[in-house]
Amino acid sequence: MSIPVTAYLLLGSNLGDRTALLRTARAHLAAVAGEIMAASALYETAAWGREDQPAFLNQALAVRTFLTAEELLGQCLATEQAAGRERLERWGSRTLDVDILLYGPALIDQPSLTVPHPRLAERRFALVPLAEIGPEVRHPRLGLSVTELLARCPDPLPVRPWLGN
Ligand code: AMP
Repeated sequence: MSIPVTAYLLLGSNLGDRTALLRTARAHLAAVAGEIMAASALYETAAWGREDQPAFLNQALAVRTFLTAEELLGQCLATEQAAGRERLERWGSRTLDVDILLYGPALIDQPSLTVPHPRLAERRFALVPLAEIGPEVRHPRLGLSVTELLARCPDPLPVRPWLGN
């Protein structure tokens, strides 16, 4: 029998009913990717890269999966498609974005998949929710914990706990 891996995912949405989209994404991922062991609170952040867009809601998940990293990416993309995501432009608004932040201690460099996520250390909106559910988890390329990465993160965009309905 194969051994499960704990993967950390980041959900993001800045179009439509953001909380409903994140809720549906969690249910979809639980059905196709693996058991959700932990979910952070929701955090709101101004859109990164393009500041003329609606703000994002982000949430980090820890998923216990038996899928390979490539299979997990396929299910993340399927979850985005199920949310009706339209890919109009890079950094553009999206109903749902699902990224693989970490896949156990794996280092993956493939044309379609880089893990740990290549921009994890420079994105406060990923590190803040990840630190809530995995502060001691180590970045296998940088050798630092999520707490340490957050303390060094140069991203100036504030990440606020979302208190909406
Ligand atoms: P974007 O939707 O702009 O975040 O880009 C999604 C594409 O990035 C996917 O189709 C993947 O092929 C690629 N990709 C590379 N590494 C990752 C990762 N760690 N998590 C999610 N997508 C990734």
